[in-house]
Amino acid sequence: MFAEDYASSKRLDESNAVNANLAVPVDNSIEQINVVRRHFVLASVGAAASLLANSSTARSCSVGDMVGNVSGLGAIGVQRAIAINNVDELRDALRSGSSAVAIGGGRYSMGGQTAVRCGLHLDTRPLNSVVSFQPENRQIRVQAGARWRDLQTLIDPFGLSIRTMQSYANFTVGGSISVNCHGRYVGHGAIAESIESMTLCLANGEIINASREQNRELFSAAIGGYGAVGVIVDATLRLDTNEKITKQIRALPLDEYFDWATSEVLRSNSALMHNADLLPGAWRIARATTWHRAPMEATLTTPDRLRGRHSKYLAQRAAISTLADSSVADRIRAKLRDRSNSPPQTTWRNYEASLDVASLEPFSRERHSFVLEEFFIPERNARRFANVLAAYLEKNALGTLNVSIRHAPADQQALMSWAREAVFSFVLYIRVGTSKSALETHGRWVQGLIELALAAGGTYYLPYRLHATTDQFTRAYPNAARLKRIRKDVSAERFVNTLWEKYL
Ligand SMILES: Cc1cc2nc3c(=O)[nH]c(=O)nc-3n(C[C@H](O)[C@H](O)[C@H](O)COP(=O)(O)OP(=O)(O)OC[C@H]3O[C@@H](n4cnc5c(N)ncnc54)[C@H](O)[C@@H]3O)c2cc1C
Repeated sequence: MFAEDYASSKRLDESNAVNANLAVPVDNSIEQINVVRRHFVLASVGAAASLLANSSTARSCSVGDMVGNVSGLGAIGVQRAIAINNVDELRDALRSGSSAVAIGGGRYSMGGQTAVRCGLHLDTRPLNSVVSFQPENRQIRVQAGARWRDLQTLIDPFGLSIRTMQSYANFTVGGSISVNCHGRYVGHGAIAESIESMTLCLANGEIINASREQNRELFSAAIGGYGAVGVIVDATLRLDTNEKITKQIRALPLDEYFDWATSEVLRSNSALMHNADLLPGAWRIARATTWHRAPMEATLTTPDRLRGRHSKYLAQRAAISTLADSSVADRIRAKLRDRSNSPPQTTWRNYEASLDVASLEPFSRERHSFVLEEFFIPERNARRFANVLAAYLEKNALGTLNVSIRHAPADQQALMSWAREAVFSFVLYIRVGTSKSALETHGRWVQGLIELALAAGGTYYLPYRLHATTDQFTRAYPNAARLKRIRKDVSAERFVNTLWEKYL
């Protein structure tokens, strides 16, 4: 059996080594908006407030860098952004000052989860080496800044796949663990289940191992902890087999979808991935897409094992840009609906799992941006919630372009679990105006949705914009008080970002 040892810490794709301090340009427009170096002094909190959305604490400083996010909304001025290349640099950065510290991965979270005003920003993207890889054990230990897409390039030749990841491959391992991400995998919900162990760097620079056996409380607090207890240095992840999969699409009434999905997808041995889409103008029709395991001899629709990395996706991006507000929209939607009749397609699992967020990137985010919201509803209430959601969207969809429904089994591992019991999740993809009034209207509209989710015994996802009131957050995440205590126990209070500044 082959076992390649990466103990010498093989560095993954160097294009990841974005140095925030130098604002190194990379050939991905999304990355370019993420780091913009600025030098100016915020003399007063009043000035800061107009520049820096989402901040509440009166803290002034000489702003050295702006930390943005994929949405282009709410960039945050930090005192300094430091690129972390190795553990020594991480410990030095933590020991170098006493300011608040926030941790950044790929910066696809949208509400300032990676930065705090006037604090230190640790850019972990260059920390992206493979520590060890044992294909025969289907395990990989990798540093936190590595992206799924880089891992896919490495593990695909060994016939392996990431076990649980989001529907796109741009995210970092550290960011994905810290939000406790999930994808479309049948029977695998939160990533928590696929993490064997992790190495954490605490606020004093101490390096510890955390797993189900060692430092259990910190392990479960770090998963879905949004950087609240320490910096994830690396993680050991379980991998799965790469298989051929055949995509099947079926349209059915929303009312029938949940029973159908339970019996035909969740109990099926062949279903590997699944989601259902609701589209504007037809919120009560579920277009269910299931990827079934195909026999090894099945003919592939595309021979590619992975998606290309540097495509410009011009056609897809043009479609998204026009989808929301032009006369072309109806024709595009009709085309999407017609996909139900397209012949089944067979691809490799890794091909489907290597989607690139760049394919969603609009040509401009100046007047409109695109954001996500997600709600997790216990299985028993999912059908009722789906109908309430459809009615809410029928009344005012406020730029919602799509609702994607998925399923996740209960996750008892993460302290801040979003699936304390088995759930269906509802992901809304929304086009939003960037003016102050449009954002305020959007915020109130999202608060209404959160209220509906809470009334259905559910919760909402935390990597998106911070519209929830503190009362809504407390009801959605009752374990937040425990997280606060654990932070205190390990003197981690200096790990702050805009999310925790607002809610913790
Ligand atoms: C187009 C799009 C599609 C998406 N699809 C999905 C999906 O299918 N499923 C899903 O679950 N989510 C999805 N998301 C949300 C996504 O999973 C989160 O935004 C995730 O955080 C992105 O990873 P990142 O590397 O960009 O993390 P970042 O946004 O950089 O960081 C997220 C959080 O993790 C913390 N963090 C990052 N690295 C570390 C570290 N090393 N140690 C400690 N804390 C750290 C940060 O402080 C921050 O609080 C999607 C987002 C977008 C924009």
